[in-house]
Amino acid sequence: MALKITDECIVCSACISECPNNAIYEAGTEWAMADGTSLHGQITLHDGTATDAGSLHSPLSNDYYYIVPDKCTECQGFHEEPQCATVCPVDCCVPDEMYQETVAALLEKKEKLHV
Ligand code: SF4
Repeated sequence: MALKITDECIVCSACISECPNNAIYEAGTEWAMADGTSLHGQITLHDGTATDAGSLHSPLSNDYYYIVPDKCTECQGFHEEPQCATVCPVDCCVPDEMYQETVAALLEKKEKLHV
């Protein structure tokens, strides 16, 4: 499953550079599927929304760093452990129960993000 950042985030920025998928954004920053991935052209998000990979979307949080579920692979294919959770000093990067995914699905997602 994707990870999420809870409201215990102290906005230290330790996690943001660790993400291999550029799935983590600063509070109030717009996000795009194309950021840090090889995606381009029309794609479909997990909720069925069709979008251009380069389209900017509204921030998921205006208060804390946030993780885009469509881009989080739990670091599968890159690292043994979710890197954001490993480096977070207050342990606020936690599994997001809203996004249950198998390892196989996470690896497939990773392949789509980095063709
Ligand atoms: Fe990025 Fe890995 Fe954290 Fe997901 S678990 S947000 S892929 S660093």
